[in-house]
Amino acid sequence: MRFKGKRALVTGAAGGIGKVISQMLRAEGARVAAADRNCDAVDAEVRISGNLLDPAYADALPRTAAKALGGLDIIINNAGVITRGPVTETTDQDWALSIGVNVEAPFRICRAGIPLLAEAGGGAIVNIASCWGVHPGPNHAVYCMTKAAIASLTQCMGRDHAHQGIHINAVCPNEVDTPMLRTGFEKRGFDPATAIAELGRTVPLGRVARPDDIADVVLFLASDAARYMCGSLVEVNGGKPVS
Ligand code: NAD
Repeated sequence: MRFKGKRALVTGAAGGIGKVISQMLRAEGARVAAADRNCDAVDAEVRISGNLLDPAYADALPRTAAKALGGLDIIINNAGVITRGPVTETTDQDWALSIGVNVEAPFRICRAGIPLLAEAGGGAIVNIASCWGVHPGPNHAVYCMTKAAIASLTQCMGRDHAHQGIHINAVCPNEVDTPMLRTGFEKRGFDPATAIAELGRTVPLGRVARPDDIADVVLFLASDAARYMCGSLVEVNGGKPVS
């Protein structure tokens, strides 16, 4: 029960990784405010449905969660979107969506949330970046750029807010078996199960990550066990560092 008495906000809580993060935090004693476009089916103490592209929703999320939970100790910025293609095939809509969800929303949530964590005497923020934010992969220029941006913001915030007892770190996963990965294969006309099995053979550990492989590291960074970590980017890649 590492998180007994802790209050956590998790974005993207209806998605593949976010759902498991929320379940695992609650299983270890935390009370969770879940945020996603539609949280109706998410198990959590508080559900705050809305669109992270709406600045007013993103700005208000930490305070809304803190009001409902009686304070806030942990923020997990997990929601994300992926757009494909080189810059020459990137539309204005792809650009606005990727920057809005992957960079601007976590920026707004951190800006509003850090003072609340400070009020609680400290806390933890874990951002979900990507291996592609550290080692850019092919054909996803804007996605990689947004993940590099949130990785850099994590390093900056980790340093700037350490003195307040706030531990801000990021997890950088390689491919994870979630709706994000599966729908990407479907859109390109591949059978997701076959494609994921094939992709698994390119990973030294022999399989694509499951959401709990990532959530375990997120929980570690949100816990007291990571008390000396600030601004770290933790790659979770099954031994496959560069795509
Ligand atoms: P997912 O698509 O299963 O879940 C993402 C969640 O974010 C969804 O529930 C979605 O509704 C929510 N979301 C997206 N746009 C939103 C918006 N405008 N407002 C509110 N909520 C919104 O994806 P996932 O694989 O669980 O991804 C979680 C995080 O992990 C993302 O940041 C993603 O970039 C990152 N990541 C995933 C992989 C992978 O292979 N799956 C690899 C590296 C990093």
